[in-house]
Amino acid sequence: MRPNRLYVVVPCYNEEEVLPETSRRLREKLEGLIAAGQIAADSRVLFVNDGSKDRTWPIIRDLHGQSPLFSGVDLTRNRGHQNALLAGLMTAKNRADMVISMDADLQDDVDAIDAMVARYHEGFDVVYGVRSSRKKDTFFKRFTAEGFYRVMNALGAETVFNHADFRLLSKAALEGLSQFREVNLFLRGMVPLVGYASTTVEYERGERFAGESKYPLKKMLAFAMEGVTSLSTKPLRWITALGFLIFFVSIVMLITFIVQWAMGMTVAGWASVVCSVWAIGGLILLSLGVIGEYLGKIYLETKARPRFLIREILDKQD
Ligand code: UDP
Ligand code: MG
Repeated sequence: MRPNRLYVVVPCYNEEEVLPETSRRLREKLEGLIAAGQIAADSRVLFVNDGSKDRTWPIIRDLHGQSPLFSGVDLTRNRGHQNALLAGLMTAKNRADMVISMDADLQDDVDAIDAMVARYHEGFDVVYGVRSSRKKDTFFKRFTAEGFYRVMNALGAETVFNHADFRLLSKAALEGLSQFREVNLFLRGMVPLVGYASTTVEYERGERFAGESKYPLKKMLAFAMEGVTSLSTKPLRWITALGFLIFFVSIVMLITFIVQWAMGMTVAGWASVVCSVWAIGGLILLSLGVIGEYLGKIYLETKARPRFLIREILDKQD
C-alpha cells in the first residue's frame, strides 16, 4: 500500500456559517477512513483562513484545540481563492502523502473522498472531481459555467470539463506543482500541465450549505480572463491573424477603387467610410487592450511578489 497520510485543504473566506457543519462532516469522513485503514491515523483537515472579516479564524482555532485532526493556516490578508488554496497545498506538501482540495461550503461532495483515496491507492497521482450533473444549478449558472469551459478550451486554456478545484494530488504531483513559479494563478489549468497518471471521480454538486457565493458573475469573468491570459497566448496570435485579414481586405478595396476610378465611376457614400473608421478604430483598441492585458501580466510576473504570506500555522504533526 502507498504511504497514506491525507491532508484535506479547505480555503475559507468569511465562512463562519458553514464551518461547524463542514468540520463535522469532514471529521466523520476522515475518522471512517482511518478506521478502515485507508488513510493514516495522523491525517488532517487543513483550513486556510484567507483574511476573513468574520469569526472564521477563531472557529478554526477552536476546532484545532478540540482535536488534532483539525489544522489551520492563517494568511496575513485576503489573497483570493486560488492563492489561499496554493498556500494550503504548499503547507501540506511536506506533511502529507496525498492532498485533497475542496471548498468550504459543502458544494463538493464529502463522500467522493472515499473514491479519490481508492484511486490513489490504485496508483493514480492526480484525481479530478468532476460533477456528474448540474441539475441543482439555475439555468443561468449552468449555461454560463458550461460556456466557460468551452470558450476557455477554444482560447487555449485547457481544463478538465466540469472540474473545479475538488481534486486529489499525490506528494509527487504537489512537488511538480510547486515548481510552477507563476504569480498569476489558475490552478485547474496548471495541474494538467504537471502530468502524472490521472483519472476522474464523478460527484453530484450540491448547493452552498449556508452563506452566499464569494464568486459573483463579475469575479467569474475576471477569473476566466485570468485563466486564458495566464495559460495561453492564442489571443495574441488571433490579433495578428486579424491584422493580416484586415490588411488583405484593404488591398482588395484599393484595387477595386482604382478600377472604379479608371472606369470613371465616382464613389458616393460616406457611410461606408465612417463605418470602416469606427470598425478599424474599435479593433485597434481591442487589440491594444489584449496586448495590455498580457503586458500587465508580465509586469506582475517580473515583480515576483510572494503569492501568499502566512501569519500562523496550527498543526500538531511533530
Ligand atoms: N474563497 C477564498 N477566498 C476568496 C473567495 C473565496 O478562500 O477570496 C473560498 C470560499 O471560502 C470557498 C471557495 O473559495 O471555500 C469557493 O468560493 P464560493 O463557494 O463562494 O464560490 P462558488 O462555489 O460560488 O463558485
Ligand atoms: Mg461554492
